[in-house]
Amino acid sequence: MATLSPLLKQATPVLAERGEGVYLYDTAGNRHLDFTAGIGVTNTGHCHPRVVEAAQKQVATLIHGQYTTVMHEPLLRLVDALGEVLPDGLDSLFFLNSGSEAVEASIRLARHATGRQNIVVFHGSFHGRTMGAAALTTAGTKFRAGIGPLMPGVAVAPFPQAYRYGWSEDEAVRFALRELDYLLATVSPASDTAAFMVEPVLGEGGYIPAPPAFLEGLRERADRHGILLIVDEVQTGFGRTGRFWGHEHSAARPDVLITAKGLASGFPLSAIAAPAALMEQAWPGSQGGTYGGNAVSCAAALATLRVVQDEDLVGNSERQGARLGDGLRKVAADHPVIGDVRGLGLMQASEFTGADGEPDAAAAQRAHKAATERGLLLLTCGAYGNVVRMIPPLIVTAEQVDEALGLWSAAVADAVG
Ligand code: PMP
Repeated sequence: MATLSPLLKQATPVLAERGEGVYLYDTAGNRHLDFTAGIGVTNTGHCHPRVVEAAQKQVATLIHGQYTTVMHEPLLRLVDALGEVLPDGLDSLFFLNSGSEAVEASIRLARHATGRQNIVVFHGSFHGRTMGAAALTTAGTKFRAGIGPLMPGVAVAPFPQAYRYGWSEDEAVRFALRELDYLLATVSPASDTAAFMVEPVLGEGGYIPAPPAFLEGLRERADRHGILLIVDEVQTGFGRTGRFWGHEHSAARPDVLITAKGLASGFPLSAIAAPAALMEQAWPGSQGGTYGGNAVSCAAALATLRVVQDEDLVGNSERQGARLGDGLRKVAADHPVIGDVRGLGLMQASEFTGADGEPDAAAAQRAHKAATERGLLLLTCGAYGNVVRMIPPLIVTAEQVDEALGLWSAAVADAVG
């Protein structure tokens, strides 16, 4: 008899049977308010009827049109449609299956296009678990311990973490950019540096939005030194932060954009987009894969994009995100153990800290568990596991936000008294 490997870790004990909108139903018939959205994937809600219909139709027509062997319509239609929402100039794209694969593809592209080797990432970054992506991931030792040696050619610079160090946002940005300049002057010469890779909001690293001035400072340095700016929008894209792309909270525009998760409502699909002139620096056949751009995933992604547009999910993310953030701050005001509430759009988090300002992971884990028991599914994040995050589907209503806040308030009271 086979069993599921114990090396997988599951955040909740739920055995899911069915999903509908923002709710998951388990095999015992219990209803759970899903504020995890499958780690920020089911932005259109579980089993949105238009996504289901598009996928069912495609399954009956062509499942696997292998895109390095034959081209297929769903992929071409999706390329066209994504042109409507991608940043100006990022007019060339191709598809893979997961965020990690797209991150790997962006490393190849950056190295091919610049002839340089190093990638600079920022403390708290999460870019994936495959070996190249793991080398770029600094969100916690659990993602790196015991698997080295990791890919060389990675340098790490500070991310502006104002709360952690008790700084103003300006001070945190100044520190981070000065450290980056120092890194370029010491460890990773600009002439060896292919790219900066950054998340518009640190995701697994603790839900810390990048201040606009930080992203703009990266853009300025990238231009000055001929370094590419790769923006990892795997978690922040497709309306999650209340803008279509997370980087749009700043004036900085990327050279390479990575998207996955929300792109296809749960079907495996990722993409990287860049100017055609940059893609042309690599050669045909330098990227690819068996399943990339799967026809069913592409059909689901096209339906997802239309739902995001037709139902104004970006606007809803901004509106409900503000409501959620305000409610979380009210809960925090009653419980000093929640030292910070932050986020953009429907990417919101509460950080648990002790009286000494140090991370209080035990309190965060208790609150998470109490919420699960009350029927509110959440995730934790942060290097110390002391941040509880909320990432509901972007279709969430004001009533459902209030329902979640009621459960959260009770769960925190259960956890910390
Ligand atoms: N980049 C970011 C910003 C992510 O949040 C994630 C997943 N949490 C990844 C990359 C990796 O994506 P995947 O798990 O699909 O490989």
